[in-house]
Amino acid sequence: MMTNNYRKYILKDGTVDICRACRRPGESLRHIISGCSHLANGEYLHRHNLVARIIHQQLALLYGLVDCEVPYYKYLPVPVLENGRATLYWDRSIITDRTIVANKPDIVIIDRSQRRAVLVDITIPHDENLVKAEKDKSIVSANGLIAKSLDQHLERLSLGGWIKGQMQKAVILDTARIVRRFLSLRP
Ligand SMILES: [Zn+2]
Repeated sequence: MMTNNYRKYILKDGTVDICRACRRPGESLRHIISGCSHLANGEYLHRHNLVARIIHQQLALLYGLVDCEVPYYKYLPVPVLENGRATLYWDRSIITDRTIVANKPDIVIIDRSQRRAVLVDITIPHDENLVKAEKDKSIVSANGLIAKSLDQHLERLSLGGWIKGQMQKAVILDTARIVRRFLSLRP
């Protein structure tokens, strides 16, 4: 990949290794796929939401909150879905007695029959940070590595393990899209 890092250190063509988007030193692939502040609110958020949408749609189907399944990239979660069995929130602030830092989980599912609420937060860290990220929230790394704990998380949500493949695919395809788009920017 023609990153400025590659040009400087491998091709040694005299390129200055500065990110073309955020202007910080070190335009490596790693920086592009999960470390660039300039891409956080657009590109990385888009990728994050793809994974969140997969989980949201499967929960909506599981609780009978939607009737039919659409491809994950076409699925648009609505802020609140509700029926007699459950309430499903998308990206909604929750009121807490104490002030908590992360009071806007990606997804909240309230299961009435079990009198239980589960908060779902998704993160897509770089590979090396996967274990660290796994401690509080976990999903799939930017390169598609899956945290060991993901199975347990999916089980708690009563979701089948098969959606791991779909989540992994969504992340890898979107990471590839981010890299292609980035490298098409003028260096
Ligand atoms: Zn950058």
